[in-house]
Amino acid sequence: MIRVPACPTGTGSGTTIFTEVTALAQRTGAVNLGQGFPDTDGPPAMLEAARTAIAAGANQYPPLAGLPELREAIVTQRALRYGTHYDVDTEVLVTTGATEALAAALLAHCAPDDEVIVFEPYYDSYAASIALAGGRRRVVPMRPDATGRFGFDPDDLSAAVSHRSRVLLLNSPHNPTGTVFDAEELAAIADCCRRNDLVAVTDEVYEYLTYDGAVHTPLATLPGMRERTLSISSAGKTFSATGWKVGWVCGPAHLVEPVRRVKQYLTFASGTAFQVAVAQALGTQQPWVRAQAARLQTNRDRLRASLVATGLTPYVCQGTYFLQADIRALGTADGIRFCRELPHRAGVAAIPSAVFYDDPADGLPIVRFVFCKKPEVLDEAARRLAGLTTPYHQEAV
Ligand SMILES: *Cc1c(COP(=O)(O)O)cnc(C)c1O
Repeated sequence: MIRVPACPTGTGSGTTIFTEVTALAQRTGAVNLGQGFPDTDGPPAMLEAARTAIAAGANQYPPLAGLPELREAIVTQRALRYGTHYDVDTEVLVTTGATEALAAALLAHCAPDDEVIVFEPYYDSYAASIALAGGRRRVVPMRPDATGRFGFDPDDLSAAVSHRSRVLLLNSPHNPTGTVFDAEELAAIADCCRRNDLVAVTDEVYEYLTYDGAVHTPLATLPGMRERTLSISSAGKTFSATGWKVGWVCGPAHLVEPVRRVKQYLTFASGTAFQVAVAQALGTQQPWVRAQAARLQTNRDRLRASLVATGLTPYVCQGTYFLQADIRALGTADGIRFCRELPHRAGVAAIPSAVFYDDPADGLPIVRFVFCKKPEVLDEAARRLAGLTTPYHQEAV
C-alpha cells in the first residue's frame, strides 16, 4: 500500500489544518483568511457563457484531451503571452484543475524511488502526489532575505540533486511565500535541469496575479527548457472560479503523451460547459484579469497595513492570493498554536505556514493570510486584529 503523508498538524483522524481552521472559523464566526478562494465571482460574460453552454446541451463527456476550442485558446494564450508554441493535438491537455495535471504529471514521470525536487515551503498536494507515485521528495529551502523576500540558495539546489533525481517541481508565482522567481533564479533552475537531465513540472496557476510590476516568466521559455518542461496552469485563480476545476498542461508531445495515459484513468475528462466558457474567457477577458490583479494588489496593501498595525511582521508578496507574516514580535513563535487560538482571541482565521514544510519546526513562526476577499471583509478583519495589540504572551488563553 502506498502511504500518503498525513498533514503534520492533522488531528490524526485524517483532518487537515485547513478543515480544522475552516470549522473553527464557522463555529466562532471568525473572518476566514485561511483558505485561498475568492468571495466574488469571475467575469460575468464567462459565467453567462457556461449557463448558455449548459442550456445548449454541453452536458456530456468532452474529449479526453479537452474540447478543441479550449485547446486552441490555451495554445494561443501561451503563444501571445510567452512566445511558446504548442501543437493543439499533441502538446496540450485539459485537466480537472491544476491539481489533476500535477498528479498525472508526477504519476507519469516519476517511477518508484525516483526523487522529485521541490522548493520548500510547498503547496500541500505536492507531497501527496509524489507519495502516490512512489517517489521521494527532496526539498530546497526558501528563506527570506534582508528585504523579507523568500528565495533560495543555488548551492542548496545543487545539494538536493542526486543520480536518482528525475523531476523538478517549480511553483511560481509561489504559494505560500508570494515570491515570483526572478531571471537569475530561473536561470539557475534551468541550468540544474539541463545538467541533470530533469523533467521540469511548473505550477503557474497564479501566472496573471503578480504585483508592483513583477513579471512571471515560464521556465519553458528559457534556453533548452521547452523540450523538458510540462507547464501547468488553471482557470481557477485567473478567473476567480476555483470550483470549476478547469486546468491544463502544455509540453512537448513525448512528455504530454504519458500524462494523457494516466489522466485517462484518473478522471478521463470533466466540465464540458466550463471548458466552453473558459475557452471564451481566455480570448476575451484579459481586461477583467488585469483589473482583478490590480484589485488584489490593493487588497494586499490593505491586509499588510492591518498586519503591521497589529504588530505582525509581513514578508514581501509579489504575487498570488497570500501574504505571510512573522508572529514573533507578538511574543510567541508557535504559529500552529497561534492559528488555533486566533479565531477565539481576535475573530480571524489564518493558516500556520508550518504545514507547508517537511519539518513543521522550520516554518513555525510564520502564518499565512489570504487577501482574495472583498475590501469590506479585509477591513472587518483589520478591526478585529486591532484588538490583538497586547503582547501575546501576557494574555492568558
Ligand atoms: C490553488 C492551487 C492549485 C490548484 O489548482 P486547481 O486548478 O484548483 O486544481 C495548484 N497549485 C497551487 C500553488 C495553488 O495555489
